[in-house]
Amino acid sequence: MLEGLGEIVVATRNLKKVGEIARMLDGTGIKLLTLDEAGECPEVVEDAPDFRGNALKKAREVSSCTGRAALADDSGLVVDALEGRPGVFSARYAGEDASDADNTSKLLRELEGIPPDDRSARFVCSLALVLADGKEYVFEGVCEGMISVAPQGRSGFGYDPVFIPEGHERSFAEMSGQEKDSMSHRGRAIRAFAGFLRG
Ligand code: IMP
Repeated sequence: MLEGLGEIVVATRNLKKVGEIARMLDGTGIKLLTLDEAGECPEVVEDAPDFRGNALKKAREVSSCTGRAALADDSGLVVDALEGRPGVFSARYAGEDASDADNTSKLLRELEGIPPDDRSARFVCSLALVLADGKEYVFEGVCEGMISVAPQGRSGFGYDPVFIPEGHERSFAEMSGQEKDSMSHRGRAIRAFAGFLRG
């Protein structure tokens, strides 16, 4: 375990993401603090051109505001037929206050009429760790798949109901949390992070 890394602030207000990260780090001895538990920090503007840049920006700002180690996840869905959209705009694809259902509906509308073979996509996750002494690390995970024609299932969050991982017929929203973790972009990034912690 890295020296002094007992507590880490998770730099996100997305409780579904926090839940997935906590589930996967269970048993590592790391105590995760939410942004609310760590103190008042200003909202981070996610204006970097890529996932890695946004993850680093969130982790740096939260670490410097709280004086603690911070872990930030920036993730999203990259759809080939849409030239990579929604990409870094995944959370606000249908507008600033868009719900998951709004974003998913917009995506399905844009892909209307596109045959299954041309609906390839991937989820990408950049996980940035910034330590209290300023050291920075980034772990990445990708999960290949395709976009379904209609939503399938009710678990998970975001685009889970329309994302079918490669080699499967069920969407992420039709899987248990553990099954999703075993193949997801976030699962892969967190396993890289956990491996780094073990040294
Ligand atoms: P951000 O990383 O907070 O900018 O937002 C990521 C957005 O990408 C989320 O709001 C979701 O719309 C989408 N996303 C990221 N990871 C997942 C996932 O595991 N399942 C479904 N949607 C996801």
